[in-house]
Amino acid sequence: MKYRKIDSKYIIRIDKNEEIVASIEKVCIENKIQLGKITAIGAVNKVIIGLFKPEDRKYLSSELKGDFEITSLIGNITSKDNKPYLHIHINIADEKHRIFGGHLNLAMVSATCEVLVEEFAGNVERNFDEDIGLNLLKL
Ligand code: ZN
Repeated sequence: MKYRKIDSKYIIRIDKNEEIVASIEKVCIENKIQLGKITAIGAVNKVIIGLFKPEDRKYLSSELKGDFEITSLIGNITSKDNKPYLHIHINIADEKHRIFGGHLNLAMVSATCEVLVEEFAGNVERNFDEDIGLNLLKL
């Protein structure tokens, strides 16, 4: 993974066999990014995505393997317990251009991934909400 900062933006290249969520988290830690937005495109060959089931207060997760294009990756950076907290969703397309998507837990790069992170001033924390079962934005 390589990155360059331009003004309040980070241009990140995540390389083959590197994991996307951990790579973005590393950039956040190294640069003390507390608030921001994430967008990316690229190619992956293994992803773990989830769907939150409100009635069970749990994520149903699936692992998908094969060649996929990231047709859209979007997320935000906030903080929890003084650490960066990434919330990312992804859409991927298979060789027949069928789309799968969900809450992103893990994605392995098969060729390259191009990420743009825009940092905002200030910070927003998260709190665990007992009713919902998720770490909600504390506003
Ligand atoms: Zn989510």
